[in-house]
Amino acid sequence: MKKFFLFVILTCSPLFAQYTPAAPGQNDPVEPFRIIGNIYYVGASEVTSYLITSPEGHILLDGGFPETAPIIERNIQKLGYKLSDVKILISTHAHYDHAGGLAELKRATEAKLYASAPEIPLLAAGGKDDFAFGNRFLFPPVKADETVKDNQVLHVGSAAMKAHLTPGHTKGCTTWTAEVSENGEKHTAVFVCSISMPGGYKLVNNAKYPQIADDYKQTYKKLRALNADVFLGSHASFWDMEGKRKKMGSGANPFVDPAGYKEFLDDNQKVFEAELKKQEAAK
Ligand SMILES: [Zn+2]
Repeated sequence: MKKFFLFVILTCSPLFAQYTPAAPGQNDPVEPFRIIGNIYYVGASEVTSYLITSPEGHILLDGGFPETAPIIERNIQKLGYKLSDVKILISTHAHYDHAGGLAELKRATEAKLYASAPEIPLLAAGGKDDFAFGNRFLFPPVKADETVKDNQVLHVGSAAMKAHLTPGHTKGCTTWTAEVSENGEKHTAVFVCSISMPGGYKLVNNAKYPQIADDYKQTYKKLRALNADVFLGSHASFWDMEGKRKKMGSGANPFVDPAGYKEFLDDNQKVFEAELKKQEAAK
């Protein structure tokens, strides 16, 4: 009987009933680890989350799927940090695999959520009326407390994250950078929002997003101009987290990878340009 009630509670739980479930293989737990300087990995196997720490408090980037939030919370605590010391919550973009856990993380940390103006309504709607997906990928709605502008730097003590609006994948897709130093060397870490075009994005005559192709073009220019050397992003596969983790502790920090960042941009831009050409020819 008890088992039966537990089953009913679990399967009827609003978390599982209302929202899009985590994609298989993307939400496996990962032991948290330090990437470089004050940047720590606290996310899952494919959907990422980062903690940027300072003695005065921390910044947390991205919340994964709804089911990722408990993994992130556990990882922060495993590192010896308190959830209540997270003072600012930020995100790359309002898709269910990165913003899904934000509502729970905001509740647990009581941090202020900052988002770019175009992402705020999509976060508040829990992914409803997405220009590409409609109502297909829904997540717990979350209210932003503050708007973050292009080139704005957010600070918690000595922890700082700079916002770069890189629209295309979503209208307010935000790439973040952080300045770090390790062994007396300065580095710029980049947390790429996303430049993919999932499920055949409409780049030409897109009534819901007319300037989409121009936005992608500007975004590529902007990402190249960042001159970042620590390559990170919203998906672990973007920056080969698994491959790089295996190289940790044997000489140079594997996450310093300016060539990998450039290659990522080159590869994606080729796909974008070919797709744009194809769609323009077909119009
Ligand atoms: Zn996305």
